[in-house]
Amino acid sequence: MVGRKANAWAARDSTGHLSPYSFHLRDTGSEDVVLRVLYCGIDHTDLHHIRGELISNTKYPMIPGHEVVGEIIELGSEVKKFSLGDIVGVGGIVGSCGECSLCKSNLEQYCSQRILPYNDIYKDGTPTQGGFSSNMAVHQRFAVKIPEKLSPEQAAPLLCAGVTAYSPLKQWKGCNENVKGGIMGLGGVGHLGVKIAKAMGHHITVISSSNKKRKEAMEDLNADAFLVSTDEDEMRTAANSLDYILDTVPVFHPLQSYLSLLKTQGKLILVGAPQQPLEIQAGVMIAGNKTVTGSFIGSMKDVQELLDFWAGKGMTTMIEVVKMSYVNKAFERMEKNDVRYSFTGAAAQTDAKNFSTILREKRKSTAQTDDIQNS
Ligand code: NAP
Ligand code: ZN
Repeated sequence: MVGRKANAWAARDSTGHLSPYSFHLRDTGSEDVVLRVLYCGIDHTDLHHIRGELISNTKYPMIPGHEVVGEIIELGSEVKKFSLGDIVGVGGIVGSCGECSLCKSNLEQYCSQRILPYNDIYKDGTPTQGGFSSNMAVHQRFAVKIPEKLSPEQAAPLLCAGVTAYSPLKQWKGCNENVKGGIMGLGGVGHLGVKIAKAMGHHITVISSSNKKRKEAMEDLNADAFLVSTDEDEMRTAANSLDYILDTVPVFHPLQSYLSLLKTQGKLILVGAPQQPLEIQAGVMIAGNKTVTGSFIGSMKDVQELLDFWAGKGMTTMIEVVKMSYVNKAFERMEKNDVRYSFTGAAAQTDAKNFSTILREKRKSTAQTDDIQNS
């Protein structure tokens, strides 16, 4: 079908300022669904991209947004997985080859032909555009159903930030509380990392750049310990204590002092994406048989697993819901580390206050209809 017209917020150049922009979605194919976007997370990766910090050959105009929750308003003829009206999520990738060994083993996020939701080129040659938009088209394989127990705005940050923490941490899922983990940087990814790791039963130390978030980390997020990375005494006392560190920090930071926090054979997992090279000294790595590794979002299977894990445990994300027109201000505040803990933008046509209530009512009446039909 011919792509429909959509209204969006786009960056035009590397100043990263976003302004209103109209465009046509790509023509939709038999396996595509079209969403009416309800909410979209606003996260630090969007900020890196609009400023041209993540990949060379950045493409403008660029519509960011890769934590997209929407209602299906159009279905391709071959789509069996979803129905009209379903609430679905789209995260950090919208395409991959589907045939390589990575794609076949639920690691499609590492496929050499993966396609990003924006700042990339789709298979038909059109630029991909993200969820700061009224609508989005996506192949059914890259959409997930939002569990009924989760409100759409709550689900949004799980689709990228959440799964970025869940995917590497799940290697310790099912281990007991003897696992001691560190979460570096208490922002969008970090706060979800603390919640996920705690729900997995780990003993969690938050490693933060200042003392400002100590009370909230211990009281609201239930962390077990808090370290200020610039406090040498605190860092020294905590040496050799952690099995892993999830590093979410988006700016340059030499890794040396953090690697000292790891036990022998401990692992530091980089998910934050600073532009500059990070420094490592060989001695501490060799003597402690330590590993520094990286991790990119998670697979579609991980996303669905996380949504179910989250809904099953009745967990909540800590977000500030704003109108999409607030996006420039949101980026400004994010850069100043002035948000608890990330923003979710409500699309212009979404009445943020009422939508979840309407949806709950709609789901209740559908369930009642099903009950009547089944009785
Ligand atoms: P965020 O909300 O801005 O949080 C980053 C946190 O890092 C801050 O809350 C802050 O925590 C800490 N920080 C330390 N120094 C900072 C500084 N100078 N400026 C800003 N923050 C500083 O970012 P996010 O959305 O969580 O994303 C974090 C990073 O992960 C970004 O680089 C993003 O691109 C990347 N990311 C990667 C993936 C992936 O697949 N690998 C997926 C999503 C995001 P404290 O106050 O506790 O120090
Ligand atoms: Zn592949």
